[in-house]
Amino acid sequence: MTQIRTATRRFGLSKSKITAFEQCPKKLWLATHRPDLAEQDEGAEARFATGNAVGEIACALHPGGVMVDPPSLSEALAKTSSLISGGHPGPIFEATFEHDGVLVRVDVLEKVEGGGWAAAEVKSSGKVKDYHRGDLATQVWVMREAGIDLKRAAIRHIDTKFVLLREGDYAGLFTDADLLPELEDTISTRSALVAEARAALSSEEPEREMGDHCSAPFACEFAVYCSRDLPQGPEWPVTVLPYGAGKRWLERGINDLLDLAEADLNHRHARILAATRDGIPFHDAEGARKAMAGWGWPRAWLDFETVAPAVPRWVGTRPYQQIPFQFSLHLERRGGRMTHHEFLSCDGTDPRWACAEALVENIPQGATIIAYNAAFERSVLRDLAASFPDLAPRLEPWPRRRSICCPLPATIGITATSAAVGRSRRCSRPSPPSSITAHSR
Ligand code: SF4
Repeated sequence: MTQIRTATRRFGLSKSKITAFEQCPKKLWLATHRPDLAEQDEGAEARFATGNAVGEIACALHPGGVMVDPPSLSEALAKTSSLISGGHPGPIFEATFEHDGVLVRVDVLEKVEGGGWAAAEVKSSGKVKDYHRGDLATQVWVMREAGIDLKRAAIRHIDTKFVLLREGDYAGLFTDADLLPELEDTISTRSALVAEARAALSSEEPEREMGDHCSAPFACEFAVYCSRDLPQGPEWPVTVLPYGAGKRWLERGINDLLDLAEADLNHRHARILAATRDGIPFHDAEGARKAMAGWGWPRAWLDFETVAPAVPRWVGTRPYQQIPFQFSLHLERRGGRMTHHEFLSCDGTDPRWACAEALVENIPQGATIIAYNAAFERSVLRDLAASFPDLAPRLEPWPRRRSICCPLPATIGITATSAAVGRSRRCSRPSPPSSITAHSR
């Protein structure tokens, strides 16, 4: 454990540091004293880029606004103060305030008719999340103490019903949730919270065991450091059991799947255990044959890959809409003849029309479409049909017909070799039915 004597220092804090402290005191301590130990996960850069893009659009929607972006914080404080006292009529972006050594930057600060101000914290999510409340409470506390008469304080999040009608026209992309009335209790805790955070920073590295708090509300960048002395986990942890069944065993202190007996488990889990322990794949070929007997020919084994940008890129799309840019299709004909078809769009243009065309070209009318995550493939097909009326007569029947897009019944098609169990946690799609199996989930 790192030991740092800091008894006399008064640490400067910010909204994000206080959020880190609320997630885990050790996280704030490490971020302050040992930032070199941080290891960002692979998605951090993409999340950062999304946040930036969303923030830029939120500002662009207010052409009369002014950005507070001088190089130093003292200049930012001075510029904010001068804009407010000088009666700047438009919104202020990144308005900067300080109280009790806590610095906050407000995404959008707008004048309210009749006097006072409205603050908005811009988020790329499609709804208010729990941690947003603490974030906003910190902002409000500092702004009020700095003398701002706040009438509203909102989380400005993405309105998932928004549809991009003209390229670059994002008016209506955001919706405000004014939380000021419900935040008073949280605001009243901020002063004590700040004192606690400073006390933690002035002490030695806090002891904290890892747990659920390490991944929520954010994946902690110190997870590798904190887990360095933990014993190596088993090769086959109970968490490989599908549908979160492993959690029940973890709560009973059992981590290794191989410590269980088949008698402790239901039929399906017992099969997984047996196949894992013995290394012998379990193929219920007869069960699969029965389940598939009623499926029509030809059979189209379909798998989409999609992107779902927070900010819609293409006209006619919504925030977070799943846009298919790739599919893989194995077309199986009666008698076992199999052909493979694929589609991939890489040029950055709207891939939906070409994708829909390729689907109708390659999937014969009346085919049975089979997808592992059927609800997902159905929703993508429905979106394509709604977007392209010309192709809708071909696309629409697939998601509508009950017998179409059925996943291989997991209850009879378990494959559970040791390797397959491990893979099943990472794969969300099945192989085509050459072996008539499905990975358990
Ligand atoms: S990994 Fe977990 S315990 Fe360690 S600092 Fe992060 S949140 Fe705290």
